[in-house]
Amino acid sequence: MSADMLAPAHAQPVDVLVVGAGFAGLYMLHKLRGQGLSAQVVEASDSVGGTWNFNRYPGARVDIQSLEYSFGFDEALQQTWRWTERYAAQPELLRYANHVADHFALRDGILLNTRITGAWFDGLAKRWQVQAETLPGAAQAGRSWSARYLVMASGPLSAPNLPDFPGLDDFAGPVYHTARWPQQEIDFSGLKVAVVGTGSSAVQLIPLVARQAAELTVFQRTATYAVPAHNGPIDPDFEARIKADYPGFRARNRRMRGGFGSEWPPNPSSAVAASPDELQASFERRWQEGGFVFLGAFDDLLLNAESNALAAEFVRGKIRAAVHNPATAKLLSPQHTIGCKRLCVDTGYYETFNRANVRLVDVSQHAIDGFTSDGLTTGGNFYRFDALVLATGFDAMTGTLMRLDLRGRGGLSIQQKWSAGPLNYLGLMVAGFPNLFNIAGPGSSSAFTNVIVSIEHHVEWIARCIHDLDAAGLATIEPTEAAEADWVAHVNAVAASTLLLSCNSWYLGANIPGKPRMFMPLPGFPAYAERCEAVAASGYPGFIRAA
Ligand code: NAP
Repeated sequence: MSADMLAPAHAQPVDVLVVGAGFAGLYMLHKLRGQGLSAQVVEASDSVGGTWNFNRYPGARVDIQSLEYSFGFDEALQQTWRWTERYAAQPELLRYANHVADHFALRDGILLNTRITGAWFDGLAKRWQVQAETLPGAAQAGRSWSARYLVMASGPLSAPNLPDFPGLDDFAGPVYHTARWPQQEIDFSGLKVAVVGTGSSAVQLIPLVARQAAELTVFQRTATYAVPAHNGPIDPDFEARIKADYPGFRARNRRMRGGFGSEWPPNPSSAVAASPDELQASFERRWQEGGFVFLGAFDDLLLNAESNALAAEFVRGKIRAAVHNPATAKLLSPQHTIGCKRLCVDTGYYETFNRANVRLVDVSQHAIDGFTSDGLTTGGNFYRFDALVLATGFDAMTGTLMRLDLRGRGGLSIQQKWSAGPLNYLGLMVAGFPNLFNIAGPGSSSAFTNVIVSIEHHVEWIARCIHDLDAAGLATIEPTEAAEADWVAHVNAVAASTLLLSCNSWYLGANIPGKPRMFMPLPGFPAYAERCEAVAASGYPGFIRAA
């Protein structure tokens, strides 16, 4: 152990150190306190709310219905909170996170404006030594803790992807990243604005910026499948029906593949077996309902390429109907497997390209060559603008941990451990990193679910695991390398049995140059939850637990 790895004498002892005060960190703190454990949440930003504090771009809203995208572990909380919209917008989601913090009196366990810089496992003390730097607004100067357990509740989509565009620093106008949007309102009126990217964030932002800006130029590398949200005020009858048996609704959702959508279970038949009328009717019914239920129009859309092509062509038909200019409609029409990249849920995205002040530029054949002080060049053409929005996504699932100085047994760094991809067991733990838990990380089904359902599941599993260790008088737990290898093989085999490997998605790490290609999330929440339950109930096979 090197000198800098010795535990500082002033390190504050705590049972559990939790990184991040988003929904995962909030529930983890509540749960641990309920078990009589001491816990400290450390949060880099100025507020609880995680992703909903950072992603403040115009149009940011949830793509799972609000009545589902909310905690179900507390009946009083779910009965008293009232959502205003079918798909809540970012300000309302942030209010909800703050409400949760107040409702469970969590604030005194959360240190804001404090960023974890490093954590290492001290094998002798069997504790995590954790260091933080304080940011402006922090209550206290730099801190360190000595924790029995370390829980990463830092979010799967929290490390922004800032592509290495030549000359970007030369651009003289403001540059915004959707995932680091300023707190003050940005007024694009009268400006020429460029947006790079056409994923979920861009799809939400573009229609609103188009209404404000003098000109909007969208640089598209891959066209996007978007299904309508049909957002609006919460239907009071629907809300009353759900709240009449909220626990039942939650339980039914937990049995769904994605942990949501029990009101619209997948149509159990195959698209290729359907008649043209049946095809059209099923797709149309779900298009009119809006949201992710579209992908349940038939049960084999992500299993059978022919079925998938029928769904893809249905959406392309909708794009052709929505977009007046045939050349623009063609450029907006994706050709890849639908659902292979995360489906976007939109409000007027395609129609926005009918506006006279909006143009679409294809950068699929010619990458963005570089920026100058007043624009960018691609394919030999120069595009001038005043402000730039990077809607370029995230270094998903691993980015936040890989940007930390995180060291396990014997000083093994997470960068070494994950150099060929994020090895893990059950998506919850990593061999060589005892007592380190990861919430909604690679290897779990979080990315394919209503993430709140996954968060509740992970938090409850972790809390039980710690309880079981304490009850058995044990001090450490970590997976075996064999269990880890089997699990990663299992995740990739499940993905390979679907069409999910057929495109360049962030699920695969393919959106980040140089990132190892390994399919990270596990499709299918119920089977995943069953497996985690079986492991916990049968004495944690695949893990080494020690005194
Ligand atoms: P994203 O889906 O990864 O989209 C990033 C976009 O930037 C893509 O169009 C990508 O093109 C483009 N891009 C990246 N690097 C580029 C480069 N060097 N040159 C040109 N284009 C480049 O990111 P996101 O839109 O932020 O969404 C990420 C995830 O966050 C979503 O899948 C979803 O899970 C979540 N999210 C959810 C919501 C919601 O509705 N609640 C909203 C926002 C985000 P390629 O496709 O060619 O890589």
